[in-house]
Amino acid sequence: MITLIWADNEKGPGLLEGVKMYALKFDENLCKTCPTGDCLVKCQYMNVDKDTAVDEMLKISRGEDSFVFNDCVTCYACEEYCRRGNHPFYLITEKREEKGLLTSPRAITKQWINIGEPQGKYRLGDVKEKVLSFGYMPEFLKWVRGKLFEDVMPSFIFGQEFFCNVVYIHFANTSIIKERLPMVMENFRKLGVKEVICMHDECYGSFAHLAPAYGIDVPFKPIHYFEYLYNRLKELSNEIRPLNIKAAYQRPCSARLCSDKHHYVADIMELIGVELVEREYQGENALCCGGIFNMCFGYDLASDVQKRNIDDMAGHGAEYCFFNCPACQGTLGTKVAKRGIKPVHIIDLCKMAIGEK
Ligand code: SF4
Ligand code: SF4
Repeated sequence: MITLIWADNEKGPGLLEGVKMYALKFDENLCKTCPTGDCLVKCQYMNVDKDTAVDEMLKISRGEDSFVFNDCVTCYACEEYCRRGNHPFYLITEKREEKGLLTSPRAITKQWINIGEPQGKYRLGDVKEKVLSFGYMPEFLKWVRGKLFEDVMPSFIFGQEFFCNVVYIHFANTSIIKERLPMVMENFRKLGVKEVICMHDECYGSFAHLAPAYGIDVPFKPIHYFEYLYNRLKELSNEIRPLNIKAAYQRPCSARLCSDKHHYVADIMELIGVELVEREYQGENALCCGGIFNMCFGYDLASDVQKRNIDDMAGHGAEYCFFNCPACQGTLGTKVAKRGIKPVHIIDLCKMAIGEK
């Protein structure tokens, strides 16, 4: 029998040492020679030139004050914009926490910390060396069925004990990540898994991007589910009937932590005969679903971003809006449907193409 670690039973001295040990790898020398300042120049929520961008990042890295702490709405995008791998958003988050600059009311932050707390209520399938991770997204317990997954299922894991904990960067709280993520890694290690197919790209971002940025060991190979779906669809290519529809993609914040996997969106759509509409808010210029904005930064920002995003989908003739993140789908699904655009998760779109929906 495997004993997994959860918060109230094995929080020993080793773990507390670990909290102090993990430090963000950020090199201010990379900023000093940066030719673009893209992290903040491309930011959709502030208007700065290259010199200001570099100056502000250097100020932040020195622990000084910056208007960025006030204006940053935690969209994660600068983690993609910085081509030098220098983790500008993780740095902003670290320094916000150090200074006690919360992004949302204390009660909301606390509520999220409680939601993600391991409580021993995880679920394990018949776990093999290759396993599907549903993280802490219950939707996948229903969605991950059928031919697309039959070569791996019922090897799956679900629950807070395997939760990637990335969401806490929205709440300027990296200390909870540094405390819990090593426990999650230890839980994976105890299962003996070798390859983990992450059904939520926030999990993939955590294991392939955030953990290395903090020097947290990952004892398995993380695989993004886009890559898995693409390869599986190719195996099932004889069963694909092109959908011949026009669709817009709602790119989530977490996709900024795995931008090298973004090409799979177009690759998968090509395989299943979906025309990906060319619109303003796509790729690097994608807009957040607004869920976190509503919670942390107010209704006006969320409403403005959602309106521009959905207008853009409708204006470019999208018949469907497909989602990667179930939370984005929960936030925007009804709103796009009211505009006559059908909301669907990318997994369901793939199932439709092989006649399963
Ligand atoms: S964080 Fe990256 S993009 Fe921003 S100034 Fe530093 S090196 Fe340049
Ligand atoms: S996380 Fe988003 S809002 Fe914050 S500085 Fe980076 S790009 Fe701008």
